Amino acid sequence: MSAARAERLLRVLAERELDAMLVTDLVNVRYLTGFTGTNAVCVIASEELLFFTDFRYVEQAERQVSDGFERIKGRQDLLGDAVARLSGRAGFEDDHLSVRAHTRIAGMLPDGAELVPAGGAVEELRAVKETAELRSMREAAALADDIYRHLTDRGLVGRSERAVALEMEQEMRVRGAEGPSFPSIVAAGPNGALPHATPGDRVVERDTLVVVDLGGVVDGYCSDCTRTFATGSLPDDALEVYELVLDAQERALAAVRAGAECVAVDAVAREVIAAAGQGERFGHGLGHGVGLEIHEGPRLSPSGEGELRAGNVVTVEPGVYVPGAYGVRIEDLVVVGSEGPELLSAYPKALVTVDGS
Ligand code: ZN
Ligand code: ZN
Repeated sequence: MSAARAERLLRVLAERELDAMLVTDLVNVRYLTGFTGTNAVCVIASEELLFFTDFRYVEQAERQVSDGFERIKGRQDLLGDAVARLSGRAGFEDDHLSVRAHTRIAGMLPDGAELVPAGGAVEELRAVKETAELRSMREAAALADDIYRHLTDRGLVGRSERAVALEMEQEMRVRGAEGPSFPSIVAAGPNGALPHATPGDRVVERDTLVVVDLGGVVDGYCSDCTRTFATGSLPDDALEVYELVLDAQERALAAVRAGAECVAVDAVAREVIAAAGQGERFGHGLGHGVGLEIHEGPRLSPSGEGELRAGNVVTVEPGVYVPGAYGVRIEDLVVVGSEGPELLSAYPKALVTVDGS
């Protein structure tokens, strides 16, 4: 990996009139340098790119850290070592650094250096994916599709949510994922009404809806996909809610393109659901960015800021949650393009019935 990302960050810093940036968030360190270990800090400045880690990671850093960075073996207190090298107006990640750490480094600053909040600067770069990142994300999404196909073959009825979730996560690893991108959700019947249900001992029954939300990590990149399955025949109201959510999801997808306001894309799905009298039952945002982290920018929600840009990777995941009865959520992962979205999730969205094993 070259230090091209650090070069891009330097341009962002110049716009913000910053001379340097202290990067402490490990995901951002990974993005800028390629390093995947658990203890590192970097300093990005136009005259030098510095990477600090401790003795345990010196060899790994030799292999992973981009050329262009000076690799420095620090003491256990890497932050102190890095701060000693700051000068001028130095940005720091105020959205990650603890108040305690900030107080400490403020007391160690060299003369003439000043700490300036610059949280989000690296995340802004991360939100627009490069070709290689998209390749990994396509793979991660295809892996989630595979797991759904496996699940449809295996069946759901008579198995506990926990057992289904565990098997899916194991299958992900067998198929080459580094792990799940978040704890998988399997929420049967009334549990489906909880958007972030934890899989438990509830046994999946016949003639109900089951919300399944999962993703895998490939090359550090996450995927995220939700499907809601039927386990037999369903009452009309449940079928209607399913069709409503699907309609909202597809209309919102059609609104995803570079230049679209994040708020406006969210509103497309929200209006469809509200028009059917279910507005109160769609209580979360429409979607979120995905990348090295499962939740990153941009956010598609009523309070989402800014516009979508080509190369953003976002989810589109409206849901309707009927307390005490069931929930429906349908989620695709898509790449934003200037003409519209490239769908990364390919598993069918028409209601699939999965019966017993
Ligand atoms: Zn999800
Ligand atoms: Zn999601």
